[in-house]
Amino acid sequence: MKIIDISMELNEKTVVWVDDDSPKLIPVARIPNAPINFTWLDFGSHAGTHIDAPYYLFNEKWKSDEVPFEVLIGDCQVIDLCDVEDYIEIVDLKKHNISSKRILLKTKNSYDNMEKYNPNHVALSQEAAKYLRDLGVKLIGYDYQSFERNGEVNIHRIFMQENIICLDNLRLKEAEEKEYNLICLPVKVTGIDAAPSRAILIEK
Ligand SMILES: [Zn+2]
Repeated sequence: MKIIDISMELNEKTVVWVDDDSPKLIPVARIPNAPINFTWLDFGSHAGTHIDAPYYLFNEKWKSDEVPFEVLIGDCQVIDLCDVEDYIEIVDLKKHNISSKRILLKTKNSYDNMEKYNPNHVALSQEAAKYLRDLGVKLIGYDYQSFERNGEVNIHRIFMQENIICLDNLRLKEAEEKEYNLICLPVKVTGIDAAPSRAILIEK
């Protein structure tokens, strides 16, 4: 069984949204100066690979711990859009036979060395977002901090209105355009807008 880890490394070098502080991994205790190694974690809810819960934009919708496993686990399809330079448009999506309800969009972003935030990362157009919504997709994974540039939330609104879960900051370099089984397990942090997650693909 081949398993691909599509999660981003989460540490003090992890690139986060430009207005956020970098994650801190504070060494509270270290052997041999202490009997144990113990670290204090301090980072935003959208640092590294994470799910966005619809509560991000809607007070009455699913929070970080309420997203059903049925959405986060199951068959998924990696769509290779590495030929897109700027915005993913409907025409780009139509080149692919999208059949799964879980879609991971692999772009050039997966080849970014992630040393600093790229404001011109490959993004999704609002029309393309509506196209995916209308296909009945339940989870959409992406290989950057957001589908949108400049901290906008138009696409988030299109998805979250329909309880579509965004799985952000994936690393899809190792994934090919085909079907896998996705396992995405968000940390059970309760009642908030997002949760750090480990995400893996299992070859079928
Ligand atoms: Zn997010």
